[in-house]
Amino acid sequence: MTFQTPFSLLGDALAARGYSAPTAVQAAVLEDEALGRDLIVSAQTGSGKTVAFGLAMAPEMLGTDGKILPARTPLALVIAPTRELAMQVSRELSWLYEPTGARVVTCVGGMDPMRERRALNGGAQIVVGTPGRLRDHLERGALDLTGLAVAVLDEADEMLDMGFREDLEELLDATPDGRRTLLFSATMPKPIVALAKRYQSNALRISTADASSGHGDIAYQAMAIAPADIENAVVNLLRFHEAETAILFCATRDNVRHLHSSLTERGFAVVALSGEHSQNERNHALQALRDRRARVCVATDVAARGIDLPGLSLVIHVEVPRDAETLQHRSGRTGRAGKKGTAILLVPYPRRRRVEGMLRGAKIPAEWLSPPTADEIRAADSERLLSTLLTPVEPSEADTAIAQRLLAERSPEDIALALVQAYRTRLPEPEELLASEAPPQQGPRPGFEASTWFRINVGRRHNADPRWLLPLLCRRGHVSRSEIGAIRILGNESRFEVPTPIAARFLAAVRRTASEDDGVEIILAEDNSPGEAPRKPHRGQERDAKRPGPPRDRNFKHRKRMNKPNG
Ligand code: AMP
Repeated sequence: MTFQTPFSLLGDALAARGYSAPTAVQAAVLEDEALGRDLIVSAQTGSGKTVAFGLAMAPEMLGTDGKILPARTPLALVIAPTRELAMQVSRELSWLYEPTGARVVTCVGGMDPMRERRALNGGAQIVVGTPGRLRDHLERGALDLTGLAVAVLDEADEMLDMGFREDLEELLDATPDGRRTLLFSATMPKPIVALAKRYQSNALRISTADASSGHGDIAYQAMAIAPADIENAVVNLLRFHEAETAILFCATRDNVRHLHSSLTERGFAVVALSGEHSQNERNHALQALRDRRARVCVATDVAARGIDLPGLSLVIHVEVPRDAETLQHRSGRTGRAGKKGTAILLVPYPRRRRVEGMLRGAKIPAEWLSPPTADEIRAADSERLLSTLLTPVEPSEADTAIAQRLLAERSPEDIALALVQAYRTRLPEPEELLASEAPPQQGPRPGFEASTWFRINVGRRHNADPRWLLPLLCRRGHVSRSEIGAIRILGNESRFEVPTPIAARFLAAVRRTASEDDGVEIILAEDNSPGEAPRKPHRGQERDAKRPGPPRDRNFKHRKRMNKPNG
C-alpha cells in the first residue's frame, strides 16, 4: 500500500521512510474539509501528529510543481514546548520536506543563538523552535514573521502549562492576519480554548482518539504494594518485561538520583533525566538510549517532556502521578504510532483508593495485578534463554574455531551448561517481595517495659500487614526490627510501640524522612495506647496462637509482641 497524499514529493518522502498508510490524525487533516482551514486537533504524542501538521501545512508551502515556494522570509513557524520536541519536529519535517527543497531552521534554548541568527538570515521556509528563543529572535529582528503563511502550535497545553502564553501571543501577534493557525494539543482545557478563540477563525475541530480515555495502544496496569517494596517491584518489573527500552517516572530529582544509583548498582543499564542535568548530559543520556547502550531511563515529569524513544514499550510510574493528565502524558511516551505499550502504576497500599478514583475519573481502564515474583521472573528467563539459544546462528570462521576447540575439550552437556550460566549471570537478580516473606512471629520480648505508642495512617482497610509495616517503620524511623514492639492493625490506622528511651529519636527520624509520596503518616498516639478496645475475637482465632492479633487485655499485662522472623 502507498501513502496517498495530494503532494507527490511528500508522498515520495513518506514512501522512502516506509510509511505505507496515514495514521488517523494524518488521514483527518488530508480530508477535503480540512484543506486551507484553521485546525484545532486533539492528538497525543505518538499519533503521528508531526507528519500530520507537516502535511496540513503543505498547501501554503508548495507550488504547482510540488516544490517549495521561493520565499525570503519564513512561510511556516512551528512552536513546541521543549528543546527535544522542537529538534524532533525539525528532524521529522526535514526528511518530509527534503524532496521539495525546503530549508528547515531550528531555534531552541541552550543552543548557540548566533548560529541560529545566521541560519535565519540565510533564508528558511520552515522555522521550528521553542517559545522563548523564538521570541528573542523576533525581538532582535532576526526572525521576520511578516510573510508567514501558517503557524503551528505543538503540544499547546504543555506550552501554556509551562508559562509560555505571553511568548506565544507575542509571536502570533507578529504574523499577518491571513495566516493559517494549526493548534495541536493532547488535552483541551479552557486556556487552550481561549487561545484558539483569539487566534483562529472558523477552526475545524479534529479529534481522532477519545482524549479522555488516554491512548489506545497502551495497556494500563496498577499494582498495590507495600511502600517499602516499591524499589523491589521496579526491579522485578524490569526483569520480567525485559523491555527494549523502559522509562521510570519519579516525582523529584532526589528520587530520580536515588533510583538511578540503586538500579545501576544492581547491574541495569540505566540513565537519568532530571532538572539537575545539563543539556549536554541530557543529550548523552538520550543518545545512550537510542543506540541501546542504556535500556532504562529514570526521569521526572518535566525532564521527560516531549522525548520520543523508538522501542519504548514500558512506562513505570514509580511514584503515583499528580493527576490523570500527568498520568496520560507520562504514559504517552509509549504506545506510539501503532506500537503496543504497557504503563504500570505502582501504588502504595495507603494510596489505592485515591488512584482508583483518579483512574475512574479519567476513564482509564486499568487492570489491578500483583508484581511479578522472583519465581515468575526465573520462569520467563528460562523461556527467553531457550528461545535465544535455540535460534540458529550464522557462524563466522573464528566462532567455528572456538566451538570446535570447546567440543574437543568438553562434553556438549558441559558446554550447554556453561552457556546457560553465562546468560544468567548477565541478568540482575530478581527480588523477593515482602508480601511473600513469612510474617513476623510473636513472642514476649524484653526492652518494652516502658513503651511509647505511635499511630500510622494505614489500617486493615489499606491491607496493612506487619510483614510490610515492620520494614517501613524501620526505614522511616531509623531503628532495627527489634526496636519495634507490638503492631496492632485497626480499621483505618495501625498502632505500634517503641521503647520509650528511643521514642524521641524515632519521632525525629520519622519527621525527617516524611515524604508526601507514599501517603504514609506516623505520629505519636495522644493517648499512648494501642487504640480502641479490640472486638471480641472469634473462637477459632482464640485457638490460633500464631495468628497476629490485637492484645486481648486492656492492661496489656499479657501483651503479645511481634518479634523478628526466626527470633
Ligand atoms: P509523533 O506523534 O509525531 O511524535 O510521531 C510518532 C512516530 O510515528 C514518529 O517516529 C513518526 O515518524 C512515526 N510516524 C508518523 N507517521 C507515521 C505513519 N503514517 N506510519 C508509521 N509511522 C509513522
